[in-house]
Amino acid sequence: MSPDDQWRTACERAAVVVPGPDNLIAAGELLRATAYSLAGVACPRCNGFGVKTYGSTAVWTGGVGAQSLTEAVCDKCWGTGRKDKTGVNQMRVLLETIRKPASKTKETP
Ligand SMILES: [Zn+2]
Repeated sequence: MSPDDQWRTACERAAVVVPGPDNLIAAGELLRATAYSLAGVACPRCNGFGVKTYGSTAVWTGGVGAQSLTEAVCDKCWGTGRKDKTGVNQMRVLLETIRKPASKTKETP
């Protein structure tokens, strides 16, 4: 499929969404992911969507989780959908939060 055909197909799919905020957002995300793909900057793990489906509820933490397919932020681009720009690494934030010593609270007399 040529780039023009890819873009046309994405536009046609986006144009037939049922009105509603969630559907309009999904249509916008489809167009954005298609644009990233055509520009050659789409994240290879989530194909430009910024989210991916994980095999359990543990998602990107990789820990213990219930058996359920769960959509969550992509653990490669961290939500940007681009391979050349990454969002905030949530794993790093989580680890820093866990390792951070508990702050001492002032005791009130
Ligand atoms: Zn990604």
